[in-house]
Amino acid sequence: MDQGIAKADRLGREIEARRDDLIELTQALIRIPTLNPPGDCYLEICEFLAERLKRSGFEVEFIRAEGTPGDSDKYPRWNVIARREGKGSGACVHFNSHIDVVEIGKDWTFDPFGGEVKDGKIYGRGSCDMKGGLAASIIAAETFLEVYPDFEGAVEISGTADEETGGYGGVAYLAEQGYFDPKRVQHVIIPEPLNKDRVCLGHRGVWWAEIETHGQIAHGSMPFLGDCAVRHMGAVLSEMEKSLFPALAGRHTEMPVVPEGARQSTMNINSFHGGQKEPDADFTGFPSACVPDSARMIIDRRYLIEEKPEDVRGEIVELLERVKSSRDSFRYDLKELWQVSPTMTDREAPVVQSVSRAIEQVFSRAPEYVVSPGTYDQKHIDRIGRLKDCIAYGPGILDLAHKPDEYVGIEDMLDAAKVMALSLCSLLKVEA
Ligand SMILES: [Zn+2]
Repeated sequence: MDQGIAKADRLGREIEARRDDLIELTQALIRIPTLNPPGDCYLEICEFLAERLKRSGFEVEFIRAEGTPGDSDKYPRWNVIARREGKGSGACVHFNSHIDVVEIGKDWTFDPFGGEVKDGKIYGRGSCDMKGGLAASIIAAETFLEVYPDFEGAVEISGTADEETGGYGGVAYLAEQGYFDPKRVQHVIIPEPLNKDRVCLGHRGVWWAEIETHGQIAHGSMPFLGDCAVRHMGAVLSEMEKSLFPALAGRHTEMPVVPEGARQSTMNINSFHGGQKEPDADFTGFPSACVPDSARMIIDRRYLIEEKPEDVRGEIVELLERVKSSRDSFRYDLKELWQVSPTMTDREAPVVQSVSRAIEQVFSRAPEYVVSPGTYDQKHIDRIGRLKDCIAYGPGILDLAHKPDEYVGIEDMLDAAKVMALSLCSLLKVEA
């Protein structure tokens, strides 16, 4: 028998034998309600992971991202990194999962933190994004370590905070501390839910900004005595409709972004506000008659690897200047809020090649290469850690993330664990 097939068969059988363990592990993770915001139960889930991985021979380190956004004594930003050294020196493969989950939202028919199993699926907030992926990577690593105890190199598993709110108290902090230095870690797999037969190479860029238009307050019965900031912002909006949105829609990319609609530049108007503050829901009075002297809009621009961040900004400045030239008394401020560069790992990179071959072995078909429309922690590993050999690969259907009745399929987790275990074999150069 071919050595590759023998290895795949052996690891496959061993992983199938751990089905119940995988289910229980996923349920246990879902039952720790790590809601973010505010960042609940981080220490609890890190301790749970540490206990588990210590039993499998890992050395465990707890790192609190002190002073990062949201970190406080009430809600400390805890992270855990577990490392198991092999028999000799070699590469280190790191599986990074975020431990936080987003708010529950409405319309659940399952207990969001119950981890109920029904028809081959495990339900709960974070099941798909991404406790199922975390559990699959743990089972994959444990299986690999048991079958190939003499491997050379190292295997790491981390559980990190705050991915859902930018990752500053999680992967960004760890990268700043050198945990993703390419001298220490060579290959990273992030088990985000991108479907079990796809390799996610990276993500589009992000540019957030706030536009404010200024006016002059006056009595609403005599608006000609003031200057309406909302009308100025209306002119900005209409210029966006006329020139910006069509231009963005026409800008296509080499990046294989999914879904298809995101394979171009996009911009969302995240919020728009002008004039008096919205009253509280229980306020029963009337608004007063005033001309608004300020209007603000937050824009969320997603950009492509073919675009430069300075051009993304420059395009908005030009648009505002065009509006200014056509309106007397138009004044504006533009404030940049957040910027993330696009990233896309090369298809020839070792981690891409290894995971692709493993997908072919498990599913007997070639993988699909995709790029995420939104960002995830790869940005920090790439830009702060300077580690380029990184992808997202994990079980679960991306569209279910953040939705009610989120679930992860048990078969999908088992299949993804097989792919991860085989990838460990090839990245750590283990012979059958
Ligand atoms: Zn996620």
